[in-house]
Amino acid sequence: MTTDDPHAGHGDVTLALAEQLPDGGVLYQSWPICACRLPALREGLGPPRHQSLATREQAEATGRAVREVNSGVKLEGGQ
Ligand SMILES: [Zn+2]
Repeated sequence: MTTDDPHAGHGDVTLALAEQLPDGGVLYQSWPICACRLPALREGLGPPRHQSLATREQAEATGRAVREVNSGVKLEGGQ
């Protein structure tokens, strides 16, 4: 079976952007993209200023903590 989708069988990743706003706030946005685009993106951006690595358990714990804090952060899209 063939497909016309050049990304069939590739993994998905999340591209995230954090924009510092003039009022001190931060706008976070993310997009699902194909994992095959990562090498070109990394090459274009150069070495990251910050990087972190979390286990699945750590990532889930962080997500739960963020959701449980009543900070008034407006979440849109996704889950
Ligand atoms: Zn792809």
